[in-house]
Amino acid sequence: MDTKAMYKLSYGLFVVTTVHDGKFNGCISNTAIQVANDPTRLGIAINKANLTHDLVKAAGKFNVSIISEEADFELFKHFGMQSGRDVDKFLGYKDCAGAANGIPYITKGINAVMCCTVTEMFDLGSHTFFVATIDDMKVLSDADSATYAYYQSSIKPQPGKPADPADGAVWRCKICGYEYKEKDGDPANGIAPGTKFEDLPEDWVCPLCKHPKSDFEKVQ
Ligand code: FE
Repeated sequence: MDTKAMYKLSYGLFVVTTVHDGKFNGCISNTAIQVANDPTRLGIAINKANLTHDLVKAAGKFNVSIISEEADFELFKHFGMQSGRDVDKFLGYKDCAGAANGIPYITKGINAVMCCTVTEMFDLGSHTFFVATIDDMKVLSDADSATYAYYQSSIKPQPGKPADPADGAVWRCKICGYEYKEKDGDPANGIAPGTKFEDLPEDWVCPLCKHPKSDFEKVQ
């Protein structure tokens, strides 16, 4: 079985936002699709490791902001490379507005927004698949939607081989480009500075895209 076939699937990119108990949060998702048209249903999958997962499950509602080709890497860093458990992603964040359902949506680098109510949830192991009705939606821009391939080729910084030998051992996620530097560790996820890549727990995942250790390659 050639598992590389999985990489032939195409994806869009989205910011999924929600609020529960006064806690606002959002995360990057590559899994939002229309799954039925009569009645119209949207489906999104969210990794259980994301705080947004727990908040959507509890709130039963969310907004999907569709990322366009005008988005810059900062959007991905802000919503994808830090956890709402550590920072308030909406504290002082300017590029958003409030929808009628009380949930913020993103206004920069976005071409449309959908406001959704969860109708069904499916436990898929690593992820929960949420099926939802769309209560409201609007187009914000005529820019093309960003695909995952576009992110890889044109939004993500194209890192060369790390030039600074002082960085020591560096491992790069082949999926999203995140670099694990052994000297820095991954303190946000309980990995102390100096932890060798080989010594990371087998269930450690890329902090950005949540792919496993097996999707990393040593670059220095
Ligand atoms: Fe990654």
